[in-house]
Amino acid sequence: MPVLVMKFGGTSVADLARIRAAAEKVKREVDRGHDVIVIVSAMSGKTNELVGWVEQTSPLYDAREYDAVVSSGENVTAGLMALTLQEMDVPARSWQGWQVPIQTTSQHASARFVDIPRENIDAKFAEGMKVAVVAGFQGISPEGRITTLGRGGSDTTAVAFAAAFDAIRCDIYTDVDGIYTTDPRITSKARRLEKIAFEEMLELASLGAKVLQTRSVELAMRYKVKLRVLSSFEDTDDNSGTLVCDEEDIMESKAVSGVAYSRDEAKMTLVSVEDRPGIAAAIFGPLAEAGVNVDMIVQNISEKNYGTHTTAVTDMTFSLPVNQIARAQKALEDARTSGSIRYDELVGDTDVAKVSVVGIGMRSHAGVAAAMFKALAAEGINIKVITTSEIKISVLIDRKYMELAVQALHDAFALDAAA
Ligand code: ADP
Ligand code: ASP
Ligand code: MG
Repeated sequence: MPVLVMKFGGTSVADLARIRAAAEKVKREVDRGHDVIVIVSAMSGKTNELVGWVEQTSPLYDAREYDAVVSSGENVTAGLMALTLQEMDVPARSWQGWQVPIQTTSQHASARFVDIPRENIDAKFAEGMKVAVVAGFQGISPEGRITTLGRGGSDTTAVAFAAAFDAIRCDIYTDVDGIYTTDPRITSKARRLEKIAFEEMLELASLGAKVLQTRSVELAMRYKVKLRVLSSFEDTDDNSGTLVCDEEDIMESKAVSGVAYSRDEAKMTLVSVEDRPGIAAAIFGPLAEAGVNVDMIVQNISEKNYGTHTTAVTDMTFSLPVNQIARAQKALEDARTSGSIRYDELVGDTDVAKVSVVGIGMRSHAGVAAAMFKALAAEGINIKVITTSEIKISVLIDRKYMELAVQALHDAFALDAAA
């Protein structure tokens, strides 16, 4: 029997009525002859609430206990979804991660899949079960503890199951009807794309477009999973939504195909840090060990203003998620106390956001960076840090200009019009 994977995100299972609406979509696929694996998120807002409880209890929490708490939201929806399907006479049962068992690494709060053995679920399908409802976002470590996959991780659970079960497709049901040129909540001019290339979606996701978790796109690309994003709020058919596919299958040839943003960024500057070989390693090593996800980095030109230092000094600035500021500060202060780095001051800025333009067309179009900077300048937006790669340009700006920047860039690259 062909297996179809259907994933429902938080707003798609927000209450019992939404779970019922989702279950009806599942039943329709069962009636069409599919065995279905349903991956569910926690009810919307639930994971945030659980994370809040953990942070209030223990600011520098033990990630193993964080996982024990935050994974629980998905368990509730998995059970409720199975019950709802049973009420519709669809043979269904729920599976928590450890029951499958979904084996992951032991990197708590950002675990990765190691293996998803099929035996248990296949045996139940063979006995006549039609729907396996699996709690998203969670797994079990080699040490036998519950793990989670990082925020938005249920998307990755869905793709991993699609790969493990050779699913005909992985459908990600959410609160928008597909992938847009930018977040449709930021500009009404955002345009839904029929298709988007894996590489572009990968960049958009990693730069903040939370419609798909980055890792889910990576896995889909690697295992050639047919991945689709569509609405759980509308009637849908086999052609609804946006298909994530190979570059060769895309007709559009614009330089830029999307704009992404990441609101919760912060910037830290080490003022007057010694400029000597090994200094970057001495700074970013301890940050990595403390689990800080450093993103953009700039080092200023070196000054021979020795001050209290024995070598020339420079300023080193980096960006990081705003909720990792305390961890970063501690790691750097500890490094200073131990004598491995010297700096005069550590300055944090928690009011920044990152805005990025993405497009595989950038490989062949020149002048994208200039056009981007011009559009931001026209709005009077100051750029604090810039980074580029082959198919993206990102800038760090004051958070209060984030929406304006996204809208200005969407206009500047005429993303509302098809190529
Ligand atoms: P779910 O709870 O279903 O996993 P998410 O909130 O994680 O849903 O992701 C869907 C949201 O992603 C949308 O509501 C939308 O605001 C946001 N989003 C950001 N960028 C995009 C984009 N380019 N296209 C579509 N949605 C986007
Ligand atoms: N519930 C988790 C989160 O909010 C996982 C997910 O929904 O994908 O991050
Ligand atoms: Mg999500």
